[in-house]
Amino acid sequence: MSAPILIVGQGLAGTVLGWTFERAGIAFEIADSGHAGAASRVGAGIINPITGQRIVKSRGVDALLPRALEVYRAMEAEWGVPLVRAMRVRRFFNDDRERRVFAEKSATGELAPYAGEADADGFWIEGAARVDTAALIAAARARWRADGRLREERVDLTAALGRYDVVILCTGANDCGGLAWGGVGCARATGEILTLAVGGLAPEVILNRGHWVLPTAAGVAKVGATYAREGAESAASVARDELILSASRLLDGRGFSVTAQEAGVRVTSPDRYPVVGRNPREPRLGVFNALGSKGALLAPWLAHQWFNHLTEGIPFDREVAATRFAR
Ligand SMILES: Cc1cc2nc3c(=O)[nH]c(=O)nc-3n(C[C@H](O)[C@H](O)[C@H](O)COP(=O)(O)OP(=O)(O)OC[C@H]3O[C@@H](n4cnc5c(N)ncnc54)[C@H](O)[C@@H]3O)c2cc1C
Repeated sequence: MSAPILIVGQGLAGTVLGWTFERAGIAFEIADSGHAGAASRVGAGIINPITGQRIVKSRGVDALLPRALEVYRAMEAEWGVPLVRAMRVRRFFNDDRERRVFAEKSATGELAPYAGEADADGFWIEGAARVDTAALIAAARARWRADGRLREERVDLTAALGRYDVVILCTGANDCGGLAWGGVGCARATGEILTLAVGGLAPEVILNRGHWVLPTAAGVAKVGATYAREGAESAASVARDELILSASRLLDGRGFSVTAQEAGVRVTSPDRYPVVGRNPREPRLGVFNALGSKGALLAPWLAHQWFNHLTEGIPFDREVAATRFAR
């Protein structure tokens, strides 16, 4: 055995976990079958502290956001690749109900410190960020390939279990639920994103009304993301029309053209929160999955839990532990 830990999957989860182990001097190997289906290659990497039609602060964001930014900035410095950008979100109201909800919540201070100035059309969300998850996994892949740590192959779980002390599955939608989660089912939702050629956008502003427009480079932006649960009809052409309509509204008359369309699959657990820890029935099997639509915010916190667990035996937080599903 050359390393006691094998990480299976080098998307956002596997990469942040590997980086955490590498920094701590914990020996590990990592394998990925190629990023063809990786959500991290497609996902927008937006960290938005206030989300949804109900205008709520993201769960745990006050503690998770500074931790996440610290990790991505450290990776950026170490790898010499731009990965994270501070952003603001211009959140437009859909209707009077949203205006009322915002007014009530800002009066109680519930949205502090992220809710900024407001007017009749919407409000500003301060303290958002964008993590370039595609660049992040590409940088780690190049680095770990060069030092021989990354194997580019599909891992056969049964064979791997016999050769490592712990095999941590960071396999995203490709392999979720079932054995890895102690028999609990996972839910998948497909998301589509368009790349636009569009000029004149403020580089640090995300426009948001249900869908968002995210500037990614000079003259380039992304619009997304659709959400189609497993089993629902999710034709790419329907998603494209929906996103073009949203982009037209958000860009308010600015001309644009569509240059690409991509799709990825998000994974959620039955209670829609992540799943980390050891499999209750097979403790040599670990899991780090179900990051849903908030992988960029959650991954550093979850990786730190794995670090605490392996170095100090600290149990995983109950709200994310795989054991919460055990009967
Ligand atoms: C359209 C869309 C938009 C999104 N927008 C955002 C956003 O704005 N903000 C945000 O925070 N999150 C967003 N997300 C979610 C985010 O992208 C995911 O939470 C995150 O990327 C999941 O990372 P992961 O490592 O768990 O999975 P993945 O990125 O899917 O990685 C899993 C990896 O495991 C590998 N693998 C699987 N099985 C095996 C095997 N047996 N052997 C070897 N390798 C294997 C695969 O090749 C893959 O590379 C979005 C997702 C989508 C689809």
